Amino acid sequence: MVEKVIPIRLDEGRGLTPSIPGQLVTPNALTKDTRGRPLRDLRISVTDRCNFRCTYCMPKEIFDKNYPYLSHNELLSFEEITRLTTIFASLGVEKIRLTGGEPLLRKNLEVLIEMLAKIRTTTDQALDLTLTTNGSILRKKAVALKAAGLQRLTISLDGLNDEIFKKMNDVDFPVTDVLDGIAAAQEAGFTNLKVNMVVKKGTNDQEIIGMAKHFKGSGVTLRFIEFMDVGSSNGWDMSQVLPSQEVANRINAIFPIEPIEANYPGEVAQRWRYVDGSGEIGFISSVTQTFCHECTRARISTDGQLYLCLFANEGFDFKTLLRSGRSDLEIANAIMSTWSGRNDHYSEIRGSNTVATSIRKVEMSYIGG
Ligand code: SF4
Repeated sequence: MVEKVIPIRLDEGRGLTPSIPGQLVTPNALTKDTRGRPLRDLRISVTDRCNFRCTYCMPKEIFDKNYPYLSHNELLSFEEITRLTTIFASLGVEKIRLTGGEPLLRKNLEVLIEMLAKIRTTTDQALDLTLTTNGSILRKKAVALKAAGLQRLTISLDGLNDEIFKKMNDVDFPVTDVLDGIAAAQEAGFTNLKVNMVVKKGTNDQEIIGMAKHFKGSGVTLRFIEFMDVGSSNGWDMSQVLPSQEVANRINAIFPIEPIEANYPGEVAQRWRYVDGSGEIGFISSVTQTFCHECTRARISTDGQLYLCLFANEGFDFKTLLRSGRSDLEIANAIMSTWSGRNDHYSEIRGSNTVATSIRKVEMSYIGG
């Protein structure tokens, strides 16, 4: 039984106040953090709500009807998200991932995507605009998302067996509807689809081979994610983590696989391919093979807090800066000074901890995965 702990959500945007240097400099893509990592990747949570209750993210016991979800006026508006993203793009951000909660629950999300699709990077390219969804309403949304300018999609699916899937997402939602959402995305013209499966040892690891078999040769890249101690309420302990190497061994025993080069530095998933040429799979191994040394990711919460790590316990309040008449130049300098002070590397610190530490960490449903 998970002990009921009210997770961290900074009330009314009262995060740390970002410092604005006295001497303002022209925004540029050169800012590095204390570990030499540039800022290239921004994850934007557009809602803290979800229609699933995945036990590793939003356990039902905590995220029930009494949970203090953000009210609409606490959320960043589409105009504010677009303004902030434009500033981040002027600082070197090239990739945007829209997350949540479940981002497709945010009304008229296509309008925001159209606005973000117009933003250019420092090298005058379009942003790499992606979104992670649980696929539950993708059949309804896929065509509009594509038309609005969304480039790539990642769908979460933790098993093909309904009973096991239900154990993971804790709501009565059939697998067939998620698979139908994936088909709808392919019909709408999305390519390079990715499917993410969180593996919880003893709960859904028996689904690994079935999932591999199902997506092998489909053009969809299946990625296995090690169960992580995100947030402060998912009851994580190491005994429920199945190391990626073991997942790879299980698959290799039936479908021979081999590792391949990363697409770019800082890519989260380790890439492997089937030796018979029938496609790729990936592993996201934040627990057993940490990748903090190449982490170029920042996260904006649904109410405008900047987090420098998925496992952070405090954020920087950019909503107040946006709403208090600060100029884009001042906000850009505040982001540069915040990033340049970054030293986050939680997965390396986690190290030998086999049970969730007492550090209260921000909830993944609030800042996005
Ligand atoms: S633990 Fe934090 S610093 Fe390390 S890879 Fe994840 S988000 Fe980046």
